[in-house]
Amino acid sequence: MKETLTPAMRQYYEAKKAYPDTLIFFRMGDFYESFGEDAKIIAKELEITLTARGKDRSGKRMPLAGIPYHSIDTYLPRLINKGYKVAICEQLEDPKQAKGVVKRGVVRVVTPGTAIDSSMFSDASNNYLMAVAGREIGKSSRNAKKEIELGVSFLDISTGEFLTTQFQDSENFEKLLSELARMRPSECILPPSLYGNSDLTDRLKAQTIVQEFAPQVSEIEEAAERLKAHFKVATLEGMGCEKLDFAIYSAWAALEYAQTTQMRELSHINTLRTYSNSEFMILDSVTLRNLEIVKNVRDEGDANSLYRILDCTKTPMGSRTLKKWLLKPLLSVEKINLRLDAVEELVENPLLRYDLRSWLSEVRDIERLVGRIVYGNSNARDLISLKKSLDVLPLIRDSLMETAKSDLLKEIAVGLASFSELEDLTETIDRAIVDDPPVSVREGGMIKPGYSAELDELRDIASSSKQWIANFQQKERERSGIKSLKVGYNKVFGYYIEVTNANSSQVPEDYIRKQTMANAERFFTPELKEKESLILTANEKAIALEYEIFTEIVHMLSAHSRELQEVAERTGLLDVLAAFAETAENNNYVRPQLTDDCRILIRDGRHPVVEKTVSSGFVPNDTEMDCKENQFLLITGPNMAGKSTYMRQTALIAIMAQAGSFVPASYASIGIIDQVFTRIGAFDDLASGQSTFMVEMVELANILNNASPRSLVLLDEIGRGTSTYDGYSIAKAVVEFLHNRGKVGMRALFATHYHQLTSLEKKLKRVKNYHIAVKEEGHELVFLRKIVPGATDKSYGIHVARLAGVPEKVIERANEILKELERENVLEEAEDGENGKKRKSRSSARYTQMLLFDPGSSSGNQLEANRPSPVEAALKKLNVEEITPIEALNKLYELKKLLN
Ligand code: ADP
Ligand code: MG
Repeated sequence: MKETLTPAMRQYYEAKKAYPDTLIFFRMGDFYESFGEDAKIIAKELEITLTARGKDRSGKRMPLAGIPYHSIDTYLPRLINKGYKVAICEQLEDPKQAKGVVKRGVVRVVTPGTAIDSSMFSDASNNYLMAVAGREIGKSSRNAKKEIELGVSFLDISTGEFLTTQFQDSENFEKLLSELARMRPSECILPPSLYGNSDLTDRLKAQTIVQEFAPQVSEIEEAAERLKAHFKVATLEGMGCEKLDFAIYSAWAALEYAQTTQMRELSHINTLRTYSNSEFMILDSVTLRNLEIVKNVRDEGDANSLYRILDCTKTPMGSRTLKKWLLKPLLSVEKINLRLDAVEELVENPLLRYDLRSWLSEVRDIERLVGRIVYGNSNARDLISLKKSLDVLPLIRDSLMETAKSDLLKEIAVGLASFSELEDLTETIDRAIVDDPPVSVREGGMIKPGYSAELDELRDIASSSKQWIANFQQKERERSGIKSLKVGYNKVFGYYIEVTNANSSQVPEDYIRKQTMANAERFFTPELKEKESLILTANEKAIALEYEIFTEIVHMLSAHSRELQEVAERTGLLDVLAAFAETAENNNYVRPQLTDDCRILIRDGRHPVVEKTVSSGFVPNDTEMDCKENQFLLITGPNMAGKSTYMRQTALIAIMAQAGSFVPASYASIGIIDQVFTRIGAFDDLASGQSTFMVEMVELANILNNASPRSLVLLDEIGRGTSTYDGYSIAKAVVEFLHNRGKVGMRALFATHYHQLTSLEKKLKRVKNYHIAVKEEGHELVFLRKIVPGATDKSYGIHVARLAGVPEKVIERANEILKELERENVLEEAEDGENGKKRKSRSSARYTQMLLFDPGSSSGNQLEANRPSPVEAALKKLNVEEITPIEALNKLYELKKLLN
């Protein structure tokens, strides 16, 4: 059948064979064409017309879909973002000069994780490729659970950033998945051994695009050699990973994958950094989601995320650094204080901050500019952007040199100063490149006069020729007597003399006919022809020379890519510090104290995001936690009281503090937290579509297994997704377990509507009850948003229902049912802590109800005293069956008065 194929189609099938799981964009003239199954996919995904042409191998009509070559930037990202890989098959020679069929070949493969075109990702995020390598390291004897040694690397080829780490993980890859959640790579490559683990690939696929990739280099030693060769170093020691086999191998896999897709050396990837997660606070994927650190739960955008509230950075490097800091808060008090010292200095020196920030706003995305420059797809505009960015760095450096007192700011200044060629580079660009160069680098117009004598000369020839042409036109008009005679130029025919048909009788003898138009005739003379070739060659030469000069400058800059990347990194760092200071001032934050003990003390803490959204004013609250009496805070209160907000604000304040930011409070002291766990009961989780009780329990198991004494655990309505008895029992067991685990339990905040749980305070000595105060005013429930010690007795669900406008009939009936249930004493079997034997206690609900009315009297003693109080006496007299809700409310008022 092959004979039926055209030569071009034969080329297409060759490309397809070499890149089987990849869509082929096959360049034909002004179009990228796709054929067969590819065409069907592309037509569907890009919503373009599917046509058919010619015949395929089996003689059927061949489906075809094409996009104009100049719209590749709009169409390609749409395919990539949907997870397709695209191989770009270009014409390798000029079709005009080609003999026979034009040579074609794949010049690069575009994949999500190796995209370099800025249209494929946002400025504010890194675009990471993630590579994993690993090996099972046997089972620990006791529970036969497999341990796995994993190396994980992240490579952003648009910025040149390259990171690697190695750790041991459990059989179910918790750590790997949490790393993935933090770094959010756009693509993950797995070796066949791991790709074969369908459980792992499925879970990875839920979060990113996963590809199987077997590096050509299969030995770890060989991979290490290749890496050393790439970085031109004798040992990987300086990069910190020489002993970490899997870190090395995963790094190589990432680099090899990037090189094979890009089909070139990636010399702007200058360093590999080894990091260890033991330096950072761990935030697993569920916690990141629940706390809305970088994106919100609602639409996954960054609106209302912590990142968005804090991001007033001026540069893309700053935004990206900020994200990294929020996703990886530090554990070392010393390192955090380095950041905080710098932020404090910038808060206290608003003039310095103002200057720095206005300079920073001139700085473009240096990292990605350098990426493009080294990569070879920059244009003269990129050089101007780079120049403008580098122009302000000396100002920043000098100002910091002069004023900076904090170590980190001083370090930034010294770092900027160590790049001694900085001024030379900007000066060269300034001398060479015009201020507003064209997009194309192949059409001239980029280089300033005076930069190259040779170029100036060529341009002189061209421009003096223009004068010559003008004179020539004048001369010919006079000679022929044709006033309308024109000398013109077009790309195909070159220079010509145009005479309208009306004057054709006056055309001089020596004119040679060139082209016939509708109402004119075009001619040339030997003299004009000669000049034409002079001008054209001068022009052509000038354009070629401009390109040559541009390339020289690009090479000069590429040679400094390492220094430029370092400068970019420092700029990002400075930008975040200045942004933290700016936000601190605008939002009225304070500097937190960090300690190595386990105390958390927050005065007037606020939720950084919610405080921006409540119009009535946010009510600040205190938090006090430690490993003694206040290790475990049980928080009750009606729906909508502010329990979830309160718990999250505590975690967010700690995260901000450990990231180096000031915090929304009047005072905060944070005992370093190594990991925050948050679990939200299944009801709140409905939006994600996986709100099963099972998911809740799996996540809970993860906390119970992994939390350390330094962790902070937020449990929000755990156990809600099942029946009351189950839920209550699980919730209770969890409290007991977390409380008693090891010698020191982890700090935990537990919001629950099982108000019966509050009786645990008496039994477990490190548990403290808190509730969020509400006030009933007539039919209304007024939320005071204030956290106070002690417990509430009920969830006020029915009140909330009334607030929401549920018909009064339903409310009345609900109240009746509630009363019946309460009479049946559901869940009132409480244990007595003192003597350990079970007995029917006086209802814990009633016990806590007393507390609601009088938070001060938290001892149970008055209950033990059998003498009825006036309130109790009044209650006894009440015939509950016979009164209406309104009467009940009035009665409640009376009772309250009695209490006072
Ligand atoms: P819960 O978890 O108790 O049901 P939430 O924490 O979800 O309540 O809070 C409900 C709403 O109350 C929030 O969306 C917010 O608008 C408001 N809110 C919460 N805490 C405060 C506060 N401290 N000050 C002012 N408004 C608050
Ligand atoms: Mg809640």
